[in-house]
Amino acid sequence: MKITFVGTGSGSTSLKRYHSSLLISSSSYEMLVDAGDGISRALLSSNIPYNIIDGILITHFHPDHFTGLPGLLVQMKMAKKETPLDIYVHASKAGFLEDFLFNSYILQDRYDFNIRIKSIDTFFDIKPANDLSFVVQENSHIDKYRESVLSRNLSLVSLSVLFSVDGRKIFYTGDIGGKADLELFNRYDYLITESTHVTYEEIVTGILNKEAKVYLTHINDSDEEELQNKIKSAHNPSIVLATDGLVIEEK
Ligand SMILES: [Zn+2]
Ligand SMILES: [Zn+2]
Repeated sequence: MKITFVGTGSGSTSLKRYHSSLLISSSSYEMLVDAGDGISRALLSSNIPYNIIDGILITHFHPDHFTGLPGLLVQMKMAKKETPLDIYVHASKAGFLEDFLFNSYILQDRYDFNIRIKSIDTFFDIKPANDLSFVVQENSHIDKYRESVLSRNLSLVSLSVLFSVDGRKIFYTGDIGGKADLELFNRYDYLITESTHVTYEEIVTGILNKEAKVYLTHINDSDEEELQNKIKSAHNPSIVLATDGLVIEEK
């Protein structure tokens, strides 16, 4: 089991951090979680070849989480990828994603690898490989838009994910709406949580498994020093402020 923090920045573009993205690796499968603006360059920075990626999961459709996708597919084509690529997306967004890629001239017959958009939904155990599976839950991150889209049929889905990788459980909150979303899953070995839409104090009190190793990501440059100071003064070694390129590995 290996987790690589490809990007640990927030929605605010930064020279210190790429937008949030993780690579979750089992012995047989490489799953990229989110592919926002600049993802191809972020992968280059972390020395991750484009073509090893087997699947991409998009948690939600804010630009810092998905707009790098067409560019990444083009990079894969230029790098002569041949193995299939699965793109996991909530069922309500699969049609949009298909149109988005088509309109970006990602045309399947011009690609040597299969691009398979996989619709996912809550309550289903999704099993890309024998040693890597995941379930998703809807969180409240974009509920705030409900009034603005009343007259349009626009899906407002943002996903939190529980991965099972080589027998370990990793809870990735994705972008959330508040503290209550930290409780969407309660049994995990690793908690990877964003730190833009919840306070440090909310995170500390919201950790349901006190034994878990906790990594903070989606970090605003302006919040970094304060977060680091709070972690230091709490003497809590199980909480780590992630940085781009950080790797967690368990044999
Ligand atoms: Zn974000
Ligand atoms: Zn977001």
